[in-house]
Amino acid sequence: MLIISFDAVGDDEFTRMLSYPAIRAFAEKAAVFRGVDSLFVSNTYPIHTSVATGVTPEKHKLISNTEPFPKKNPVWNTREENIKARTLWQAANEKGIKTAVVFWPVTAGSKTIRWNMPEVMARPGESQILTSFKAGSVFTQLKLFLRHKKLMNGIKQPYLDNFATACMVDILSEHKPGLAMIHLTSFDTLCHDNGKGSADLSTAFESLNANLSALLKAAGDDRDVLIFSDHSQRNVHTVIEINNILKEAGSFTEVKPWKHSALPRSGRANRCYTFRKSLGSGAYVLR
Ligand SMILES: [Zn+2]
Repeated sequence: MLIISFDAVGDDEFTRMLSYPAIRAFAEKAAVFRGVDSLFVSNTYPIHTSVATGVTPEKHKLISNTEPFPKKNPVWNTREENIKARTLWQAANEKGIKTAVVFWPVTAGSKTIRWNMPEVMARPGESQILTSFKAGSVFTQLKLFLRHKKLMNGIKQPYLDNFATACMVDILSEHKPGLAMIHLTSFDTLCHDNGKGSADLSTAFESLNANLSALLKAAGDDRDVLIFSDHSQRNVHTVIEINNILKEAGSFTEVKPWKHSALPRSGRANRCYTFRKSLGSGAYVLR
């Protein structure tokens, strides 16, 4: 089976997508489920982990894209060990089925993915290539990176999706994995950058269409293919800073948490640190 994630492509984009030939041809042959609700927490990593485990974030415990504890730069929740439920690739491995992953979230450090190019982000000052090598299959990634790095332009889209697709096409052709999972994010990135309804999103659809075509060709006719999306996006006009409301209420003292080496220790109950963190459709407060 080949599983393809079109990140952030909501049902409201379905009609527009059908104007792209490879997507239309696929939809005409496929069983199509429209209007599927996302789940809470409606962020990319919790949802992909729910797709990979079949359980809600409450059960698999991957409740945020980034680690909940405050640091100046967000630390993405990329480690497989943070998933507290059995994953598709672990189940496949138990049956002797080999898995290939390209940029699927939360697969870093996996011992059961045979060809693993995980989605990981280098921290400031770190090398992206070394970060990727440490998190996934070194030899596979080195070979694919040398072969296809010309397709990349940093992490700009749609170049990154084109690189990811070229890597997965090679893996499908050379190794024929029983389970293959790829995460394409051009629509999500360009939506964040330009807003929903922007003309720039045509670039994302053109890329998704061309990449789908290449992936289907490499997958062959006898392979099941599943395309899904994790959530939609919506234009916003106002951001409410909950920290400011808490401060005005006088009940809390907001600090820049990354300026402190640790959260408050017990015995200092007179001081209370709060940290507001966005959770897609919600927020939580640590104190
Ligand atoms: Zn997403």
